Amino acid sequence: MPVDASEALLCWYAVDKRRLPWRAEEGARTEPYRVWLSEVMLQQTTVAAVKPYFESFVARWPNVEALAAAEDGELMAAWAGLGYYARARNLIACARAVVAEHDGQFPEEEAALRKLPGIGAYTAAAIAAIAFGRRAVAVDGNVERVVSRLHAVKTPLPAARPEIRALADAMTPDAGAGDFAQAMMDLGSAICTPRNPACGRCPVRPWCAAFAEGDPEHYPVKAPKAARPHRLGTAFWLEQDGAVLLVRRPAKGLLGGMLAFPEAEPAAARWEEAGSVDHVFTHFALTMQLRCAETAQRAEGPEGAIWWPVERIGEAGLPTLFAKLAARGLAWREKGKSPGGVRQGVLV
Ligand code: SF4
Repeated sequence: MPVDASEALLCWYAVDKRRLPWRAEEGARTEPYRVWLSEVMLQQTTVAAVKPYFESFVARWPNVEALAAAEDGELMAAWAGLGYYARARNLIACARAVVAEHDGQFPEEEAALRKLPGIGAYTAAAIAAIAFGRRAVAVDGNVERVVSRLHAVKTPLPAARPEIRALADAMTPDAGAGDFAQAMMDLGSAICTPRNPACGRCPVRPWCAAFAEGDPEHYPVKAPKAARPHRLGTAFWLEQDGAVLLVRRPAKGLLGGMLAFPEAEPAAARWEEAGSVDHVFTHFALTMQLRCAETAQRAEGPEGAIWWPVERIGEAGLPTLFAKLAARGLAWREKGKSPGGVRQGVLV
Protein backbone atom coordinates (compact mmCIF):
# COMPACT_ATOMS: atom_id res chain seq x y z
CA MET A 1 0.00 0.00 0.00
CA PRO A 2 1.52 3.36 -0.90
CA VAL A 3 2.51 5.66 1.96
CA ASP A 4 -0.48 7.90 1.16
CA ALA A 5 -2.83 4.95 1.71
CA SER A 6 -1.23 4.04 5.08
CA GLU A 7 -1.56 7.66 6.12
CA ALA A 8 -5.17 7.81 4.96
CA LEU A 9 -5.90 4.70 7.01
CA LEU A 10 -4.22 6.11 10.15
CA CYS A 11 -6.08 9.44 9.80
CA TRP A 12 -9.37 7.57 9.51
CA TYR A 13 -8.48 5.47 12.57
CA ALA A 14 -7.61 8.55 14.65
CA VAL A 15 -11.16 9.83 14.17
CA ASP A 16 -13.31 6.74 13.68
CA LYS A 17 -11.70 4.01 15.78
CA ARG A 18 -14.01 1.74 17.75
CA ARG A 19 -14.24 2.42 21.48
CA LEU A 20 -13.57 -0.98 23.00
CA PRO A 21 -13.21 -1.83 26.70
CA TRP A 22 -9.67 -3.15 26.22
CA ARG A 23 -8.37 -0.11 24.35
CA ALA A 24 -6.44 2.60 26.20
CA GLU A 25 -7.44 6.24 26.27
CA GLU A 26 -6.12 8.55 23.54
CA GLY A 27 -2.32 8.69 23.51
CA ALA A 28 -1.84 5.93 26.10
CA ARG A 29 -0.55 2.45 25.35
CA THR A 30 -2.78 -0.51 26.21
CA GLU A 31 -1.46 -2.73 29.03
CA PRO A 32 -0.05 -6.04 27.72
CA TYR A 33 -2.41 -7.99 30.02
CA ARG A 34 -5.48 -6.35 28.46
CA VAL A 35 -4.20 -6.80 24.89
CA TRP A 36 -3.41 -10.45 25.52
CA LEU A 37 -6.69 -11.23 27.30
CA SER A 38 -8.81 -9.51 24.64
CA GLU A 39 -6.91 -11.06 21.73
CA VAL A 40 -7.25 -14.58 23.16
CA MET A 41 -10.98 -14.02 23.74
CA LEU A 42 -11.40 -12.59 20.23
CA GLN A 43 -9.91 -15.64 18.55
CA GLN A 44 -12.92 -17.12 16.72
CA THR A 45 -15.38 -14.95 18.69
CA THR A 46 -17.09 -11.65 17.88
CA VAL A 47 -16.38 -8.33 19.61
CA ALA A 48 -20.00 -8.12 20.84
CA ALA A 49 -19.77 -11.56 22.49
CA VAL A 50 -16.35 -10.83 24.04
CA LYS A 51 -17.11 -7.42 25.64
CA PRO A 52 -19.06 -8.64 28.73
CA TYR A 53 -16.61 -11.52 29.30
CA PHE A 54 -13.63 -9.18 29.08
CA GLU A 55 -15.18 -6.75 31.54
CA SER A 56 -16.06 -9.44 34.05
CA PHE A 57 -12.60 -11.05 33.76
CA VAL A 58 -10.70 -7.80 34.40
CA ALA A 59 -13.03 -6.89 37.26
CA ARG A 60 -12.39 -10.28 38.87
CA TRP A 61 -8.74 -10.78 37.85
CA PRO A 62 -7.30 -7.27 37.24
CA ASN A 63 -3.79 -8.43 36.33
CA VAL A 64 -1.84 -11.45 35.21
CA GLU A 65 -0.79 -12.41 38.76
CA ALA A 66 -4.43 -12.54 39.87
CA LEU A 67 -5.39 -14.67 36.88
CA ALA A 68 -2.45 -17.02 37.46
CA ALA A 69 -3.68 -17.58 41.03
CA ALA A 70 -7.25 -18.43 39.95
CA GLU A 71 -8.61 -21.96 40.43
CA ASP A 72 -8.84 -23.88 37.14
CA GLY A 73 -12.53 -24.75 37.68
CA GLU A 74 -13.42 -21.17 38.62
CA LEU A 75 -11.83 -19.80 35.44
CA MET A 76 -13.37 -22.49 33.22
CA ALA A 77 -16.82 -21.66 34.65
CA ALA A 78 -16.27 -17.92 34.01
CA TRP A 79 -15.32 -18.78 30.40
CA ALA A 80 -18.43 -20.94 29.82
CA GLY A 81 -20.39 -19.79 26.78
CA LEU A 82 -17.39 -18.26 24.96
CA GLY A 83 -16.57 -21.59 23.30
CA TYR A 84 -13.26 -23.04 22.05
CA TYR A 85 -12.34 -24.06 25.59
CA ALA A 86 -8.72 -24.90 24.76
CA ARG A 87 -8.25 -21.12 24.86
CA ALA A 88 -9.30 -21.00 28.52
CA ARG A 89 -6.91 -23.79 29.46
CA ASN A 90 -4.12 -22.01 27.61
CA LEU A 91 -5.07 -18.74 29.30
CA ILE A 92 -4.39 -20.21 32.74
CA ALA A 93 -1.20 -21.93 31.57
CA CYS A 94 0.03 -18.71 29.92
CA ALA A 95 -0.71 -16.52 32.96
CA ARG A 96 1.19 -18.98 35.18
CA ALA A 97 4.14 -19.08 32.75
CA VAL A 98 4.32 -15.26 32.65
CA VAL A 99 4.41 -15.17 36.45
CA ALA A 100 6.82 -18.09 36.87
CA GLU A 101 9.21 -17.41 33.98
CA HIS A 102 8.94 -13.66 33.33
CA ASP A 103 8.33 -12.13 36.80
CA GLY A 104 4.76 -11.28 35.87
CA GLN A 105 5.81 -9.12 32.87
CA PHE A 106 4.85 -10.13 29.34
CA PRO A 107 7.97 -10.28 27.13
CA GLU A 108 8.17 -7.61 24.39
CA GLU A 109 9.67 -9.76 21.61
CA GLU A 110 7.39 -11.69 19.28
CA ALA A 111 9.64 -14.77 19.45
CA ALA A 112 9.47 -14.89 23.28
CA LEU A 113 5.72 -14.27 23.27
CA ARG A 114 5.19 -17.17 20.86
CA LYS A 115 6.82 -19.57 23.32
CA LEU A 116 3.95 -18.94 25.78
CA PRO A 117 0.95 -21.31 25.78
CA GLY A 118 -1.86 -20.31 23.40
CA ILE A 119 0.02 -17.41 21.80
CA GLY A 120 0.35 -17.94 18.05
CA ALA A 121 1.85 -15.70 15.36
CA TYR A 122 -1.10 -13.33 15.21
CA THR A 123 -1.52 -12.81 18.97
CA ALA A 124 2.25 -12.38 19.48
CA ALA A 125 2.37 -9.72 16.75
CA ALA A 126 -0.72 -7.96 18.13
CA ILE A 127 0.76 -7.80 21.67
CA ALA A 128 4.19 -6.67 20.42
CA ALA A 129 2.67 -3.93 18.24
CA ILE A 130 -0.23 -2.70 20.40
CA ALA A 131 1.23 -3.06 23.90
CA PHE A 132 4.92 -2.38 23.17
CA GLY A 133 4.83 -0.27 19.98
CA ARG A 134 7.12 -2.68 18.13
CA ARG A 135 7.00 -3.03 14.37
CA ALA A 136 5.11 -6.34 14.05
CA VAL A 137 2.71 -7.60 11.41
CA ALA A 138 -0.54 -9.01 12.84
CA VAL A 139 -2.54 -10.89 10.22
CA ASP A 140 -5.91 -12.37 11.21
CA GLY A 141 -8.98 -13.17 9.07
CA ASN A 142 -10.03 -9.50 8.90
CA VAL A 143 -6.60 -8.33 7.79
CA GLU A 144 -6.37 -11.20 5.30
CA ARG A 145 -9.60 -10.03 3.70
CA VAL A 146 -8.57 -6.36 3.53
CA VAL A 147 -5.13 -7.12 2.09
CA SER A 148 -6.43 -9.63 -0.45
CA ARG A 149 -8.93 -7.01 -1.68
CA LEU A 150 -6.52 -4.09 -1.72
CA HIS A 151 -4.14 -6.11 -3.88
CA ALA A 152 -6.71 -8.33 -5.68
CA VAL A 153 -4.78 -11.46 -4.63
CA LYS A 154 -5.74 -14.20 -7.11
CA THR A 155 -4.26 -17.19 -5.22
CA PRO A 156 -6.94 -19.01 -3.16
CA LEU A 157 -6.70 -19.29 0.63
CA PRO A 158 -5.06 -20.97 2.47
CA ALA A 159 -2.23 -21.16 -0.13
CA ALA A 160 -2.27 -17.34 -0.40
CA ARG A 161 -1.26 -16.82 3.25
CA PRO A 162 2.50 -16.26 2.70
CA GLU A 163 1.77 -13.82 -0.14
CA ILE A 164 -0.79 -11.92 1.96
CA ARG A 165 1.60 -11.78 4.89
CA ALA A 166 4.37 -10.35 2.71
CA LEU A 167 1.98 -7.70 1.35
CA ALA A 168 0.81 -6.84 4.89
CA ASP A 169 4.46 -6.58 5.98
CA ALA A 170 5.26 -4.22 3.10
CA MET A 171 2.45 -1.85 4.09
CA THR A 172 3.22 -1.75 7.85
CA PRO A 173 4.88 1.54 8.86
CA ASP A 174 8.02 1.55 11.02
CA ALA A 175 6.46 3.88 13.58
CA GLY A 176 2.92 3.45 14.88
CA ALA A 177 2.65 -0.27 14.05
CA GLY A 178 0.20 -0.68 16.95
CA ASP A 179 -2.23 1.92 15.60
CA PHE A 180 -1.76 0.54 12.10
CA ALA A 181 -2.59 -3.02 13.25
CA GLN A 182 -5.72 -1.78 15.06
CA ALA A 183 -6.71 0.40 12.09
CA MET A 184 -6.56 -2.64 9.79
CA MET A 185 -8.64 -4.67 12.29
CA ASP A 186 -11.25 -1.89 12.50
CA LEU A 187 -11.35 -1.45 8.73
CA GLY A 188 -11.91 -5.19 8.30
CA SER A 189 -14.66 -5.41 10.90
CA ALA A 190 -16.51 -2.12 10.28
CA ILE A 191 -16.04 -1.25 6.58
CA CYS A 192 -14.40 -4.01 4.56
CA THR A 193 -16.85 -6.65 5.79
CA PRO A 194 -17.14 -10.14 4.26
CA ARG A 195 -20.47 -9.22 2.59
CA ASN A 196 -21.50 -5.80 1.27
CA PRO A 197 -18.26 -3.93 2.07
CA ALA A 198 -18.96 -0.22 2.57
CA CYS A 199 -16.52 0.93 -0.14
CA GLY A 200 -18.27 4.32 -0.31
CA ARG A 201 -16.98 5.10 3.22
CA CYS A 202 -13.60 3.39 2.87
CA PRO A 203 -10.50 5.54 3.50
CA VAL A 204 -8.29 3.40 1.18
CA ARG A 205 -10.69 3.07 -1.74
CA PRO A 206 -8.46 5.09 -4.14
CA TRP A 207 -5.75 2.42 -3.76
CA CYS A 208 -8.00 -0.67 -3.78
CA ALA A 209 -7.54 -3.04 -6.74
CA ALA A 210 -10.65 -5.12 -5.92
CA PHE A 211 -12.81 -1.98 -5.87
CA ALA A 212 -11.30 -0.93 -9.23
CA GLU A 213 -12.18 -4.36 -10.66
CA GLY A 214 -15.79 -3.85 -9.53
CA ASP A 215 -16.38 -7.01 -7.42
CA PRO A 216 -14.65 -6.77 -4.00
CA GLU A 217 -16.63 -9.71 -2.55
CA HIS A 218 -14.82 -12.01 -4.97
CA TYR A 219 -11.84 -11.68 -2.57
CA PRO A 220 -10.37 -13.40 -0.66
CA VAL A 221 -10.53 -16.27 -3.15
CA LYS A 222 -11.22 -19.49 -1.24
CA ALA A 223 -10.43 -23.11 -2.09
CA PRO A 224 -13.59 -25.31 -2.09
CA LYS A 225 -14.45 -26.57 1.42
CA ALA A 226 -14.61 -30.23 2.43
CA ALA A 227 -17.99 -31.19 3.95
CA ARG A 228 -18.10 -31.11 7.78
CA PRO A 229 -18.66 -34.63 9.20
CA HIS A 230 -21.76 -35.25 11.30
CA ARG A 231 -21.49 -37.23 14.55
CA LEU A 232 -24.08 -38.60 16.94
CA GLY A 233 -23.80 -38.84 20.72
CA THR A 234 -25.83 -39.47 23.89
CA ALA A 235 -25.76 -37.71 27.24
CA PHE A 236 -27.45 -38.81 30.49
CA TRP A 237 -29.44 -36.72 32.96
CA LEU A 238 -29.60 -38.76 36.18
CA GLU A 239 -31.56 -37.10 38.96
CA GLN A 240 -31.92 -37.86 42.63
CA ASP A 241 -33.72 -35.74 45.22
CA GLY A 242 -33.43 -32.46 43.27
CA ALA A 243 -29.82 -32.94 42.17
CA VAL A 244 -28.42 -34.03 38.82
CA LEU A 245 -25.19 -35.93 38.17
CA LEU A 246 -22.39 -33.93 36.49
CA VAL A 247 -18.92 -35.10 35.55
CA ARG A 248 -15.71 -33.13 34.94
CA ARG A 249 -14.49 -33.91 31.41
CA PRO A 250 -10.87 -34.99 30.94
CA ALA A 251 -8.46 -32.03 30.75
CA LYS A 252 -7.42 -32.84 27.17
CA GLY A 253 -9.81 -33.06 24.24
CA LEU A 254 -13.19 -31.62 23.32
CA LEU A 255 -14.57 -29.27 26.03
CA GLY A 256 -11.73 -30.49 28.26
CA GLY A 257 -11.90 -29.62 31.95
CA MET A 258 -15.54 -28.49 31.76
CA LEU A 259 -18.45 -29.82 33.82
CA ALA A 260 -20.93 -31.79 31.69
CA PHE A 261 -23.48 -34.60 31.76
CA PRO A 262 -22.02 -38.10 31.55
CA GLU A 263 -21.86 -39.66 28.07
CA ALA A 264 -21.89 -43.22 29.37
CA GLU A 265 -24.87 -44.65 31.25
CA PRO A 266 -24.02 -43.81 34.91
CA ALA A 267 -26.48 -46.25 36.55
CA ALA A 268 -29.12 -48.83 35.79
CA ALA A 269 -32.38 -46.89 35.60
CA ARG A 270 -35.53 -46.57 33.57
CA TRP A 271 -34.13 -44.21 30.95
CA GLU A 272 -36.46 -42.02 28.91
CA GLU A 273 -35.70 -40.20 25.67
CA ALA A 274 -35.87 -36.43 26.19
CA GLY A 275 -35.07 -35.15 22.70
CA SER A 276 -31.82 -34.05 21.12
CA VAL A 277 -29.85 -30.89 20.35
CA ASP A 278 -27.66 -29.94 17.39
CA HIS A 279 -24.35 -28.19 17.86
CA VAL A 280 -21.62 -27.25 15.39
CA PHE A 281 -17.95 -27.48 16.38
CA THR A 282 -15.08 -26.34 14.15
CA HIS A 283 -14.40 -29.72 12.62
CA PHE A 284 -17.71 -31.52 12.92
CA ALA A 285 -21.42 -31.16 13.59
CA LEU A 286 -22.95 -33.08 16.48
CA THR A 287 -26.45 -34.26 17.27
CA MET A 288 -26.65 -35.26 20.91
CA GLN A 289 -29.53 -37.20 22.34
CA LEU A 290 -30.51 -36.73 26.00
CA ARG A 291 -31.73 -39.67 28.09
CA CYS A 292 -33.20 -38.92 31.49
CA ALA A 293 -34.00 -40.93 34.59
CA GLU A 294 -34.68 -40.46 38.26
CA THR A 295 -33.09 -42.77 40.78
CA ALA A 296 -33.92 -43.50 44.39
CA GLN A 297 -30.26 -43.84 45.40
CA ARG A 298 -27.25 -41.78 44.50
CA ALA A 299 -24.96 -43.73 42.24
CA GLU A 300 -21.29 -43.05 42.94
CA GLY A 301 -20.75 -42.01 39.35
CA PRO A 302 -17.35 -41.90 37.70
CA GLU A 303 -14.37 -40.28 39.44
CA GLY A 304 -14.86 -36.53 39.90
CA ALA A 305 -18.64 -36.78 39.48
CA ILE A 306 -20.76 -34.39 41.54
CA TRP A 307 -24.46 -34.04 42.33
CA TRP A 308 -25.50 -30.52 41.37
CA PRO A 309 -28.78 -28.90 42.57
CA VAL A 310 -31.14 -28.82 39.59
CA GLU A 311 -32.53 -25.37 40.40
CA ARG A 312 -28.97 -23.96 40.19
CA ILE A 313 -28.04 -25.74 36.96
CA GLY A 314 -27.65 -22.32 35.26
CA GLU A 315 -24.70 -21.59 37.61
CA ALA A 316 -22.77 -24.78 36.83
CA GLY A 317 -20.81 -23.11 33.99
CA LEU A 318 -21.85 -25.77 31.50
CA PRO A 319 -20.49 -25.29 27.96
CA THR A 320 -23.14 -24.27 25.40
CA LEU A 321 -23.85 -27.79 24.12
CA PHE A 322 -24.58 -29.05 27.64
CA ALA A 323 -26.51 -25.90 28.58
CA LYS A 324 -28.81 -26.67 25.64
CA LEU A 325 -29.15 -30.27 26.90
CA ALA A 326 -29.92 -28.97 30.41
CA ALA A 327 -32.90 -27.09 28.94
CA ARG A 328 -34.14 -30.45 27.59
CA GLY A 329 -33.63 -32.05 31.00
CA LEU A 330 -35.61 -29.30 32.71
CA ALA A 331 -38.44 -29.71 30.17
CA TRP A 332 -38.45 -33.45 30.90
CA ARG A 333 -38.85 -32.77 34.65
CA GLU A 334 -41.70 -30.34 34.06
CA LYS A 335 -43.48 -32.92 31.95
CA GLY A 336 -43.07 -35.49 34.71
CA LYS A 337 -44.63 -33.15 37.28
CA SER A 338 -47.78 -32.51 35.23
CA PRO A 339 -50.82 -34.65 36.06
CA GLY A 340 -50.83 -36.19 32.57
CA GLY A 341 -47.03 -36.51 32.51
CA VAL A 342 -45.47 -39.82 31.59
CA ARG A 343 -42.94 -39.82 34.42
CA GLN A 344 -45.24 -40.58 37.31
CA GLY A 345 -43.85 -43.36 39.48
CA VAL A 346 -40.72 -44.16 37.50
CA LEU A 347 -38.37 -44.16 40.49
CA VAL A 348 -36.20 -47.24 40.54
FE1 SF4 B 1 -12.52 -3.12 1.18
FE2 SF4 B 1 -13.99 -1.67 -0.53
FE3 SF4 B 1 -12.15 -0.52 1.00
FE4 SF4 B 1 -11.40 -2.07 -1.01
S1 SF4 B 1 -12.52 -0.14 -1.16
S2 SF4 B 1 -10.55 -2.08 1.07
S3 SF4 B 1 -13.00 -3.62 -0.93
S4 SF4 B 1 -14.03 -1.55 1.72
